[in-house]
Amino acid sequence: MKQSKLLIHTYRETPRDADVVSQQLMMRAGMIHKLAAGIYDYLPLALRSIRKFEDIVREELAKDGCQELLMPTVQPRELWDESGRWQFYGKELLRFQDRKDADFCLGPTHEEVVTDIIRKIVTSYKQLPLNVFQIQTKFRDEIRPRFGLMRGREFIMKDGYSFHVDDADADREYWKMFEAYKRIFGRLGVKFRPVEADGGAIGGSFTHEFHVLAESGEDAILSCDSCEYTSNAEKTEAPPLKFGYASEPVGELQRAHFHTPGIVSMEEQAKAFKLALDHASKFYLYRVTKGGAVSDVGVVLRSDHEPNPVKLKNLLGAEQIELTPIAEAEKRAGAPSGFIGPVDLDVPTYVDRSLEGAFNLTCGANKEGDHHFGFKPDRDLTQFKGFHDLRMAVAGDACTRCAKGAYQSFRGIEVGQVFKLGTKYSTAMSCNYLDEGGASKPMVMGCYGIGITRTVAAVIEQGHDADGIIWPWPVAPFHVHLLSLDAANADVAAAAGRAERDLEAAGFEVLHDDREGVSPGVKFKDADLLGMPLRVVIGAKGLKDGTAEVRDRRTKQMERVPFDQLVAAIVRARDQIATAS
Ligand code: ATP
Ligand code: MG
Repeated sequence: MKQSKLLIHTYRETPRDADVVSQQLMMRAGMIHKLAAGIYDYLPLALRSIRKFEDIVREELAKDGCQELLMPTVQPRELWDESGRWQFYGKELLRFQDRKDADFCLGPTHEEVVTDIIRKIVTSYKQLPLNVFQIQTKFRDEIRPRFGLMRGREFIMKDGYSFHVDDADADREYWKMFEAYKRIFGRLGVKFRPVEADGGAIGGSFTHEFHVLAESGEDAILSCDSCEYTSNAEKTEAPPLKFGYASEPVGELQRAHFHTPGIVSMEEQAKAFKLALDHASKFYLYRVTKGGAVSDVGVVLRSDHEPNPVKLKNLLGAEQIELTPIAEAEKRAGAPSGFIGPVDLDVPTYVDRSLEGAFNLTCGANKEGDHHFGFKPDRDLTQFKGFHDLRMAVAGDACTRCAKGAYQSFRGIEVGQVFKLGTKYSTAMSCNYLDEGGASKPMVMGCYGIGITRTVAAVIEQGHDADGIIWPWPVAPFHVHLLSLDAANADVAAAAGRAERDLEAAGFEVLHDDREGVSPGVKFKDADLLGMPLRVVIGAKGLKDGTAEVRDRRTKQMERVPFDQLVAAIVRARDQIATAS
């Protein structure tokens, strides 16, 4: 491919509205173009990488007998009413009406559509199991589209769905897809981890996310330094902790005469009582939606811990959970925030299990300027709902799965997810089959997603340096960037043209920078920015002794190679890259 004909414009400056490296580099390298918030054009270089990753996904899924199909982006409301998600999906679902005023949405995911297909075609256990997938454009009206392709509104996803006669078969397929994902991300040559993730409170469901490790990742991951346990921090089990003051005499609950309205933070509170932070408690009021009903519940934690609303949501089996608006919490407590406490508030109150056995705690007294001292949750709460794991685990916490390890923390970019759905959709949408005995049963389902465009961006988050992108071989837009320095020189042009043809004949994809009137400095800078794994330079100087210069983008190692040995040198360099990754 001649660069003079390529649809590309590169930029030296970092675009102002780009927050992460992948977005900055993809924009600077002329790979993507922003059309609207979270909506991008994929220009030729980007599309080459995207298509290569799609092919890797297709190849690996074909090995496991998955069948490709393609479903529409536009979906009718009726299906979403059947699953109940028209009501519950929220604003990420972009809804609109056609000329006949019928409701439609742009598909953020395709459980409803695929279930509709299967229920119409599959009737007997003999037709199961089935595993189908598509690679398709999704739309989610994200509240804050950002980070370029990593959190777009329109993006490309591989979504797969499987259908089974029972749980055991769905579990078998789940682990098969888990292994397929390890192969897919393994082939990219990126550092990734499968992590246990939150699957909500649907019975019979469980899930893993696959994360590419990167500082810019939006997710916190905790991983045991001794065993295999790796999980999304919103799901990581926190170990129970001993109450550190068990030898103190148990005090009665008393209202401290403590008129220091300025003291609102936990640190100030603990200091005023001459206590360590883990002797102070803190309190949150949450607004819970369950079965359509809305109510408030309280949560008590050690003041140096952070609450984990996902754990609370699952414990309660709630559909939605959010902090009670502060004005309403203050009204209910009759005290300003900072003095709101659980005693006398008379709401169902759940206490984090690290406070099991704790006493002599401080807490807000629901009166401005007052705190209680001597708080013992199981004794003093009118609606005590027990001790539960409700806090965020942190790095250094003891692992709950093995006796030895402690958690280490990482940041990750979620690039894929495998999900055992159970019968949530098949029951709601009557996707049934007849078993051997002729009984009608709901199919057990799994779903499996990979963010295609997000993964390509995540590859750049891991593979770059100050000069630009460093593509891993399997998804590089081209393998070799061939630069003709002094391209107007007929001898250089002829030698470079020959090199281009020879390399292409040997199966390499070559981007040939044949631009005339562009300085060597600019060509070198562009080559570093675009980041193809190998660079070959042919210039007037090399012509004299009949050599080209070959450079590895990652190691920056260079060698001079006689023209007639160029193909062999590139084969060698490719093999070296393959063994290094
Ligand atoms: P997130 O938690 O990041 O919003 P999700 O868990 O809602 O993602 P899934 O429903 O699991 O996403 O979708 C499957 C895959 O699609 C994700 O693992 C991710 O790689 C990709 N994906 C999801 N949302 C986006 C987005 N807004 N932009 C790009 N890729 C996305
Ligand atoms: Mg997900």
